[in-house]
Amino acid sequence: MSTAEAGPAEVDVAIVGAGLAGTTLAAVLGKAGRKVALIDPHRVHHPEFRAEKIGRKQMQLFERLGLDATVLPLVTPIEEVHIFRLGQLFARETNHEFGFSYGALINGLRDALPPQVPLTVGKVAEITTGPDRQRLVLVDGAIIDARLVVVATGHSEAVRRAIGVNRMEESKAFSLSIGFDLAISPRDCAYRSVTCYGKRAGDRIAYITVFPIGNKMRANMFVYRQVAEPWTRAFREEPQKMLCELMPEISAQCGNFEVAGPVEVRQINLTTTQGHRRDGVVFVGDAFLTTCPTPGVGIERVMTDVGQLCSVHIPRWLETPGMAADKISAFYDDPVKIAADENGMRSSIYSKAITTGTGLEWRIRRLRNNTARQLMIVGRKIRHLGQRRATAVAGEVS
Ligand SMILES: Cc1cc2nc3c(=O)[nH]c(=O)nc-3n(C[C@H](O)[C@H](O)[C@H](O)COP(=O)(O)OP(=O)(O)OC[C@H]3O[C@@H](n4cnc5c(N)ncnc54)[C@H](O)[C@@H]3O)c2cc1C
Repeated sequence: MSTAEAGPAEVDVAIVGAGLAGTTLAAVLGKAGRKVALIDPHRVHHPEFRAEKIGRKQMQLFERLGLDATVLPLVTPIEEVHIFRLGQLFARETNHEFGFSYGALINGLRDALPPQVPLTVGKVAEITTGPDRQRLVLVDGAIIDARLVVVATGHSEAVRRAIGVNRMEESKAFSLSIGFDLAISPRDCAYRSVTCYGKRAGDRIAYITVFPIGNKMRANMFVYRQVAEPWTRAFREEPQKMLCELMPEISAQCGNFEVAGPVEVRQINLTTTQGHRRDGVVFVGDAFLTTCPTPGVGIERVMTDVGQLCSVHIPRWLETPGMAADKISAFYDDPVKIAADENGMRSSIYSKAITTGTGLEWRIRRLRNNTARQLMIVGRKIRHLGQRRATAVAGEVS
């Protein structure tokens, strides 16, 4: 008997999209005993350049959801990061970070889904939402009847459009994210991980970060440029030459930036959603809002959505009959969610302005920040010199 002939599957929650938001939400709801359907057109998430590094704070969000035991074997721990600013070593941080390939992370999370939450491979052909029950018809004719639909389809528009919500372009072509493998191995690289900030506003470079994923060194670079401009074309053609010129302070230690494999360039748009307060359906993660990867808060935003839905809203919504828009609005009005979204937008806009802003205010801010950093570097050098002198004198006395 085919799925279509089996009659409608009745679930509490139908999640459309098994990326980061959808899969983690399904895992947590499934473990809590909810009946969940998780639908995605692809059984295996293809390799894709997306988020490739998170910090301790983001890992804690996975911990809070009880997913750290699944996530930790899928990531490469990074114990130390050397930070270069103004062409010099600025700091050595021992905050923990974690490198990963996005596709491998999502596939690992999917593999660890509880048996009662199978991934349904399929495309939604029809979706009907209302204040009580929701009905999804898949392309193969299978029907899913749910109390709540969660749209977690990332950048994809098909399901959003079918429901009738609009994506608002807050800033189109806001930045570029560039990803590539380096030829040097983690063992031969002088740093476990290094982050080097752009030096001149005119370069329009936020920073490059080089870090291990398994047995390779990966680079992510964030720039405020357009896909079609000559700089981007030149970078695609000669990344090694341009990086050696732009970041000479770390090039020798990074194998002279010899690149292994393709240079992936992704345009980033800042977007929000309009018309989302509807009966029976909630939009999460990038399906609701997209920010810029430069400040590294995208995953935090997505995992905050998932955390608030699992721990606060969905249990409350399922407790009482009906799934009308006023009930669902509690999620969009949740101060924790709003703070995470606002922080994502605000830090995206600030990072661009402090890197490239040409107005007097931003030039003064840059000057103030860079002067403070120069003083810190000089102060550290003086302290270091003092310590060396004291050691030498102590040696002479003994
Ligand atoms: C280049 C790049 C670099 C980034 N770097 C960082 C970073 O360094 N740090 C950070 O915090 N964030 C970063 N981000 C942001 C972060 O990757 C995203 O916020 C996050 O991955 C979004 O997860 P999601 O689950 O909302 O969407 P996705 O993970 O995109 O999931 C969407 C899912 O929906 C499925 N789907 C699509 N259409 C349909 C359909 N019609 N029916 C069913 N399923 C469908 C897809 O197959 C996919 O599985 C980056 C983003 C980009 C683009």
